[in-house]
Amino acid sequence: MKDDYDVIVVGSGAAGGQTAYTLTLEGARVLMLEAGRDYDIMAETPMFQTSRDAPLLGAGTPDKPFGFHDATIDGGWSVPGEPYTNASRDPARQFTWWRARMLGGRTNHWGRISLRNGPYDFKPRSRDGLGFDWPISYDDLAPYYDKVERLIGVYGSREGLENTPDSPEGCLLPPPKAPVGERLVRQRAARLGIPVVPIHRAVLTKALDHKRLPALLHPGNTAAQEILEQDLQKRIACFWATPCGRGCSIRATYQSPAVHLPPAMATGKLDILTNAMAYEVTLRDDGRAAGVNYIDKTTGKERHVAARAVVLAASACESVRILLNSRSARFPNGLANSSGKVGRYVMDTVGSSLGGQVPLLEDMPPHNEDGAGGEHVYTPWWLYREQKQGRLDFARGYHIEIATGRRMPGPGTAAGLEWLTGGAYGKRFKEEARRYYGSFVNFAGRGEMIPNERSFCEIDPAVKDRWGIPVLRFHWEWSHHETRQAAHMQKTFAEIIDAMGGRTQKGPEADGRKAIARGGEMIHEVGGTIMGSDPKTSVTDQWCQTWDVKNLFVTDGGPFCSNADKNPTLTIMALAWRASDHLLAAMKRRDI
Ligand SMILES: Cc1cc2nc3c(=O)[nH]c(=O)nc-3n(C[C@H](O)[C@H](O)[C@H](O)COP(=O)(O)OP(=O)(O)OC[C@H]3O[C@@H](n4cnc5c(N)ncnc54)[C@H](O)[C@@H]3O)c2cc1C
Ligand code: SF4
Repeated sequence: MKDDYDVIVVGSGAAGGQTAYTLTLEGARVLMLEAGRDYDIMAETPMFQTSRDAPLLGAGTPDKPFGFHDATIDGGWSVPGEPYTNASRDPARQFTWWRARMLGGRTNHWGRISLRNGPYDFKPRSRDGLGFDWPISYDDLAPYYDKVERLIGVYGSREGLENTPDSPEGCLLPPPKAPVGERLVRQRAARLGIPVVPIHRAVLTKALDHKRLPALLHPGNTAAQEILEQDLQKRIACFWATPCGRGCSIRATYQSPAVHLPPAMATGKLDILTNAMAYEVTLRDDGRAAGVNYIDKTTGKERHVAARAVVLAASACESVRILLNSRSARFPNGLANSSGKVGRYVMDTVGSSLGGQVPLLEDMPPHNEDGAGGEHVYTPWWLYREQKQGRLDFARGYHIEIATGRRMPGPGTAAGLEWLTGGAYGKRFKEEARRYYGSFVNFAGRGEMIPNERSFCEIDPAVKDRWGIPVLRFHWEWSHHETRQAAHMQKTFAEIIDAMGGRTQKGPEADGRKAIARGGEMIHEVGGTIMGSDPKTSVTDQWCQTWDVKNLFVTDGGPFCSNADKNPTLTIMALAWRASDHLLAAMKRRDI
């Protein structure tokens, strides 16, 4: 470790990775504190292991909720020794919190869906009077979306659809060919006026242009360009054969330890301390951040590190926890909390899904359906006009993620077929399993949640984690906008399944309160340190810089003041890059 860091970055996921990348490639000395253990994507990614070789045939367990081979090493719906609590006993009013304690955080096994927020998404209150407008517009963030897409590599297309921004020519990689089931969805949804277009995912359909991109991303910075040129050549195009959720040792997909951290390390300006659980930002006498207190998990000892600036990127709620646990005479209610808004307006994504069986897809001749280890196509929100005409009973919208096809069979592949087979067994069951394999389609709605006063987190006055750090207590409530949206999703999915000639085991759920997934289940936690243009009602300004402490930034999803239907990670990275540029400029001016 050095003794003169410019910046401490807490967390190594999408936010921490992007922040450390931008800062170090532009010359800053960074110390990254990561609570999880080190993780080597080359050595530890189980790309080719089969379910047959795994305990319980690879089925999910509390330790590995998404299956034995999933990339999450230490984490999931619960983390041993690191509890959190909910104020209500009613599951509908609880938040369920997914965490990943490993280098790279949740980016090692995320779904890679990378959608830009559109112009409407930054000004929602101006459009319908609900929630908050962002202090920035789409145009402010667009250049950073371009940069992030170019660096991480995102496939997709330009469709010219409303509030679904097109990337500049040459920014995206070509989308992969959709398999037959997804094409059938596209054909039948079109009859209902529902668009189905290539989705955007952070997967390399071809190698990135190592000659052109470095100069575009780091103009005038030859050292950064050289590092990136070398690194891009080590990232190989996808070969379409393995589930991305296990991670990707050939670096064909975005994971922070595959994309952000290697070039940042190559600068020689990044030191990473794993097993370092940050719990407090310390202050100097002048009220600026001095550094961070953390527990060295390998020894249990408390340590302090100092720097000119501190960036929290520990995931939205964990950053809230650190701020609220950083109490002092100057900030008795938690750091950067003079507005009282730290922890407020926690948001997730509205989720609801419905699956069906489609006879047209039965008994397909065997053919190679290997493809992207995730979606090829999706439906962006398409009912803007109907909503404007007042024909919908909820505000905001959702997109639809579509899953079909013959994936590598797992223990659940032929399970739950009784409603189709009438309970066949033996030889007949095997024939039936072959017949139905690959004939299912699933629609998952992902919709916008409007921030509300009843969804927030605070410090639990009684409970501490194994390190003695007070934990978060959540409060949660969906509004009728979200529950009605979930009911609308169900109706839409049933219509598409019907248009495909398919059938559902259980009809669509008309009661949105039953159809909606639990808070947190979509794992799109944002808010809690919202940005705004008024220090009295927000925690950070448009640069993710806290109003109260000039050299303290939050670059995870915390500053989101609305949560559009678009999955949040691309926006997190774009905001982190923009915030880092701002921090670099302030350090250069010696303002920080
Ligand atoms: C299964 C799954 C699928 C997903 N699919 C998508 C998708 O398709 N598209 C999309 O946009 N998003 C998706 N997401 C969400 C996405 O993973 C997150 O939005 C993104 O990772 C957030 O980045 P982050 O850096 O804020 O948090 P994380 O990636 O969680 O990283 C935070 C890091 O901080 C560390 N940390 C936490 N507390 C401390 C502390 N006190 N001290 C030090 N370090 C700390 C953690 O260990 C972790 O490594 C998915 C998530 C999951 C789990
Ligand atoms: S499908 Fe492609 S991107 Fe996904 S893990 Fe396999 S090689 Fe990597």
